[in-house]
Amino acid sequence: MRTRLTKKDFRIKDVRFCFTLPATLGDRGKIPYERLKTPDDLARWLIKLGFSDFSLEFSEDELGMTKRVREAIQHAGEALAAGHDFEKRDLKEINLVAAVPPPAPQFTKDGHGIIWKTTGLRSVLSMLARDFIDLATGPLSVHVKMCEKPTCRGIFVDESRPKNRRWCSMQTCGNQMKKSRMHTSA
Ligand SMILES: [Zn+2]
Repeated sequence: MRTRLTKKDFRIKDVRFCFTLPATLGDRGKIPYERLKTPDDLARWLIKLGFSDFSLEFSEDELGMTKRVREAIQHAGEALAAGHDFEKRDLKEINLVAAVPPPAPQFTKDGHGIIWKTTGLRSVLSMLARDFIDLATGPLSVHVKMCEKPTCRGIFVDESRPKNRRWCSMQTCGNQMKKSRMHTSA
C-alpha cells in the first residue's frame, strides 16, 4: 500500500540529500509551513534521515543554527535554479558549516550497507552543506530547478532523461497541479 505524504511529514524520499533540509519548510511561496517547530522536531528529522548515534537533545540555538543553514541552502539553490550568482552571505554560511568534519561512513555488520558515524548535529549539517557544494560545482548543477507550483518553491534536481520534470514531487505538487488543471479545463 502506498502511504500518502501528509503536510507534516518530512520530505526525504526522492529528495536530493542537501535539499532535505530546505524541504523542512513547506509552502514557501505562500504562508510557510514549518516542519521544524521545536528541537524535538529536529531530532525526529535526523532519525528519519538515519542519524541517531548521538544525543538528540537540542537547544533552541541549535535549532536556530540549523534553520540558518537551511535558508542558505535554499537561497543558493534558488540562485542555481535561476542561473544567478550566489549571494556572499549564503556562501559564507555554507562554507562555515562545511568546514566541520562530516560523518564517517562505516560498513554495517554484514558489509552490505552503510551506517554513518556522526559527531553530532554540526557534522550532519556539514554533510548537507558538502553535498550542496558537490552538486553546485558538478555536472548536475544545470539541472537544479525550482518546483513550478507557485506556492511551493521547493528545489530539486531534474534527473529525468528528457529533463522535463516540473515539480518537486509527483506525489505532492505534481498531483495537485494535475488535479487543478483538470478542474479548470472541465
Ligand atoms: Zn513542489
